Amino acid sequence: MFRKILIANRGEIACRVIDTCRRMGVATVAVHSDADAGARHVAMADEAVRIGGPAPADSYLRGEAIIAAAQATGAEAIHPGYGFLSENPDFVEAVEAAGLVFIGPSAAAIRAMGLKDAAKRLMAEAGVPVVPGYHGDNQDPEHLAGAADAIGYPVLIKAVAGGGGKGMRRVDRPADFAAALASAQAEARGAFGNAAVLVEKYVEKPRHIEVQVFGDGTRAVHLFERDCSLQRRHQKVIEEAPAPGMTAEMREAMGAAAVRAAEAIGYSGAGTVEFIVDGSRGLRPDGFWFMEMNTRLQVEHPVTEAVTGVDLVEWQLRVAAGERLWVRQEDLAITGHAFEARLYAEDVAAGFLPATGRLAHLAFPEGVRADTGVRTGDTISPWYDPMIAKVIVHGPTRAVALARLARALDQTQVAGTVTNLAFLAALARHEGFGRGEVDTGLIARDLEALTAEREPDDLDRAMAAAAVLQAAGLPEGPLAGFSLWTPSRVRVELDGVSGLLWMTGPDAAQVVVDGIELAACRDAQGWAIAGRRPQVVEAGGVIHVFAGGRTASFRRVDPLARAGAVAEAGNVTRAPMPGLVREVTVTAGQRVAAGDRLAVMEAMKMEHVLTAARDGVVAEVLTAPGAQVEAGAALIRLEEEA
Ligand code: ADP
Ligand code: ADP
Ligand code: MG
Repeated sequence: MFRKILIANRGEIACRVIDTCRRMGVATVAVHSDADAGARHVAMADEAVRIGGPAPADSYLRGEAIIAAAQATGAEAIHPGYGFLSENPDFVEAVEAAGLVFIGPSAAAIRAMGLKDAAKRLMAEAGVPVVPGYHGDNQDPEHLAGAADAIGYPVLIKAVAGGGGKGMRRVDRPADFAAALASAQAEARGAFGNAAVLVEKYVEKPRHIEVQVFGDGTRAVHLFERDCSLQRRHQKVIEEAPAPGMTAEMREAMGAAAVRAAEAIGYSGAGTVEFIVDGSRGLRPDGFWFMEMNTRLQVEHPVTEAVTGVDLVEWQLRVAAGERLWVRQEDLAITGHAFEARLYAEDVAAGFLPATGRLAHLAFPEGVRADTGVRTGDTISPWYDPMIAKVIVHGPTRAVALARLARALDQTQVAGTVTNLAFLAALARHEGFGRGEVDTGLIARDLEALTAEREPDDLDRAMAAAAVLQAAGLPEGPLAGFSLWTPSRVRVELDGVSGLLWMTGPDAAQVVVDGIELAACRDAQGWAIAGRRPQVVEAGGVIHVFAGGRTASFRRVDPLARAGAVAEAGNVTRAPMPGLVREVTVTAGQRVAAGDRLAVMEAMKMEHVLTAARDGVVAEVLTAPGAQVEAGAALIRLEEEA
């Protein structure tokens, strides 16, 4: 076994790899960008090396700097995690040329699966079922349109170099083909530097079922399937293992096909063979087709670990250190059911816009696996994927595991940024999902119900009352804070709620919020309000209240600051989301009218024009074209005309 390895990644996956290394007695070296100098993965590793600036191109994608860091620290091998350099065959070759071990497949295996068209041709030759389609080199639009006619509509256009759902277009009618092709090609060229596409049959009611494989370069086994059909815009949201409705016969057929795929390319280490499955008529052994192979550890690998008891990172290290595969297929079995939910800093109401922010508070319930790269006090920066954590649960049956997921999400506490927590909790309680009726269109069909704004209810009022009690200085249990109680009325003003309370005993109070009176009493565990027990955390003048998967935050009001904030609102134009400032169209001293264009931002490949909220004169330009800004950053300040 290696004595020391370097992890060429960040965030939760770097932490996840370090966990296993610690257990195996392997020393670890972290690498980090300037934005991550104080990150959790850096704190967890035995050593850390700075590799450059915050942008991935200046740090986590700099193969030569990472290899130099491994050599300088005496690491023998490099674990790539996922994303970044994990599927870059040139990096694998450079690692090996430097006399180090790459913990993953060979450069040749990665190349064989790197482009979706070539991979599909290879798999068809190996006898793996492939979605009917055109995977050839002829990129002439007429030819591709002809291929689509031959396949039969609806079809799916896919970038051959694609990933993360980019460069993909569903086309329902021949008349729409040319425009969809042009836009898929443009997106593919921008994202991957390769405009080539393939065209394939669009599978109706599709389910995404993937098989975890593991090889030693010669022989491979599979660790069963994961169902990742719960997707939003082709991105996974909740994954599970095993797949609902899976039959022994179909599992056998899919597992065998995946092992055939891995052995066909001499696969070494952990990999995933993704299949698209026709879910319209139940799962049948002839109803699945190869989609692509991901030649790395997958984000959702923990659900496989939960049902098989295997530590996949341990297996990766052992195979990379030269061990031959030590298990036979028949040694592997599934126990129970597991789910993983991906918790992101994102603004669900604003169309799932990625968000940033400092985590004022982050806590997960006991007995749940939470893979995370951040802690309370850490910042979700605009530079990287805004994932906060993966919440993973296991249970003896699907129903029990799903109930545990719902409860675990209810008990997860995040403050300081908006998140998709409530959306995930709503999904965990979705009736169709509960029945196992999953397909990739479920979220889109029910998006409105899943993201609906609720009317404030009893629980919201109990949470507001908890904030009022906290603001009144009555936070602790009876023994912790001896407070002189009086029955006189106290008025509490917070940003978001105004309350009135009076004590009815040393440990009892009446609280009025929204004109509704609630009874509160406290014991050793804190306050119970109208029978609920909201948890309160105060950080930096903000009172955060958690209950039943909800978060409510109330800022203590400083009357002076409030007046300032009101005056400021119309004067300062702020970035509505993290992104790049493309253009600033005004200069200091310039007179503007309400609605005039001030600047243009680019975020998520979309342009956003920022306009003046009122007439005035530009007092200050606080940014410049090319600047990366966080959400809320002040960009332009106006002043009243003199
Ligand atoms: P999965 O199908 O497991 O979600 P993806 O292919 O979408 O896998 O990517 C896995 C992870 O790798 C993503 O969560 C993302 O953070 C990261 N990732 C993907 N592509 C890149 C890239 N080009 N650079 C950096 N990170 C990436
Ligand atoms: P990526 O590299 O972006 O992960 P994939 O080829 O794995 O691209 O496809 C991503 C998702 O797109 C799948 O999980 C599935 O939801 C959908 N998809 C892919 N191919 C098809 C198809 N032929 N028919 C219907 N949906 C598909
Ligand atoms: Mg995929």
